Amino acid sequence: MNVLVVNAGSSSLKYQLLNTETREVFAKGNCERIGIEGSFIGHTENGEKGTLEVALPDHRTAIKHVFDILKTVDQPIEGIGHRVVQGGWYFPDSAIVTDETLAQVREVAPLAPLHNYAEADVIEICRDMFPELTNVIVPDTAFHYNMPEHAWRYALPRDVVDKYHVRKYGAHGTSHRFIWRTVHEFMGDKTHKLVSCHLGSGASLCAIEDGQCMDTTMGLTPLDGLIMGTRTGTIDPATVFYLNRVGGYSIDEIDTMMNKKSGMLALSGRSSDTRDIEEAANAGDENCAMAMEMFFYRTAQLFAEMAASMEGVDTMAFTAGIGENSDTYRQGVADRLAWMGVKIDPELNKVRSDDPRVISTPDSAIKVLVVPTNEELMIALDVKRLIEA
Ligand code: ADP
Repeated sequence: MNVLVVNAGSSSLKYQLLNTETREVFAKGNCERIGIEGSFIGHTENGEKGTLEVALPDHRTAIKHVFDILKTVDQPIEGIGHRVVQGGWYFPDSAIVTDETLAQVREVAPLAPLHNYAEADVIEICRDMFPELTNVIVPDTAFHYNMPEHAWRYALPRDVVDKYHVRKYGAHGTSHRFIWRTVHEFMGDKTHKLVSCHLGSGASLCAIEDGQCMDTTMGLTPLDGLIMGTRTGTIDPATVFYLNRVGGYSIDEIDTMMNKKSGMLALSGRSSDTRDIEEAANAGDENCAMAMEMFFYRTAQLFAEMAASMEGVDTMAFTAGIGENSDTYRQGVADRLAWMGVKIDPELNKVRSDDPRVISTPDSAIKVLVVPTNEELMIALDVKRLIEA
């Protein structure tokens, strides 16, 4: 089945047209600066990249252009999958778009206002423009929906929790689900307790036991858990009150500070990109060296936390930008888990490949893998599954 996967942000729209059987990607691209001066579409087809400078006053115009561009591919589009950041309390699985499910995406939007409103608008536009196509909602949170109550519940007053639906929702669920699926295909019955480590500019770990999410490091929002490119990760929540009352920062300023100005960017004082940080650390920058040390430390600590949530772990998988590409970061994390019996082979760790691969030594207590993630394929497979059902 040919599926168009759409990932809408407030001012961007990524798309990919692929086939679920052959996994061939016919074309992909990104509409950038929607509603802002200087908008353009970066499009890749047959390995060739092109840029189309075009006015994109709104998402509807962007989608119109995407469908026009995709005409040159000459492949029928048989379904559309929409990545949705927050499924809230409604989506334990992906779902076909109906009036009801679309309203639910909007209802939970206050939990992820920068994403869900734009995503809901784009879903509505696609339904309106191409009524013959089935649209599917694929929430990033769905995989975490059924984690045990002791993992998702927050120790806040019950009336507050119930009224405002405050709980751990997690994120990166589509990626973690894909990693489980791939590891399971690759390792067969040897894997039962997997910690999936999605380390990109956003980063989260997920404990997965026989395909079931047992816990994850992101919380009500993606701010929780690991130190990330520009996010703090877990810090004492009272920091917010303190900065507000004593520092005089408004809640919005603290929100921006903790989401956009913190993390590796703040620690390094240079960049949110781990490549720049590593280069500077190698050249003697102490802040960058400390930023890396803290990232390794926190990842190892949270790995152990995820293992505890399953009362064991047999497999660890690294994925996303840092996890797939940086042997330094993988080694740094593994070194801090040597006490758990994690041992990676430095030669295997240096191998570069687009395929899943084992990088641990034969005597490692935990199998360590690198598994390139493919959220678009996972979304497309959901579209096929739901349409065929
Ligand atoms: P997201 O999808 O969350 O934006 P990605 O999964 O694409 O993030 O990861 C982006 C991050 O991966 C960047 O911050 C970059 O620092 C990091 N990265 C990519 N390649 C490498 C590399 N070779 N070494 C270290 N870090 C890398």
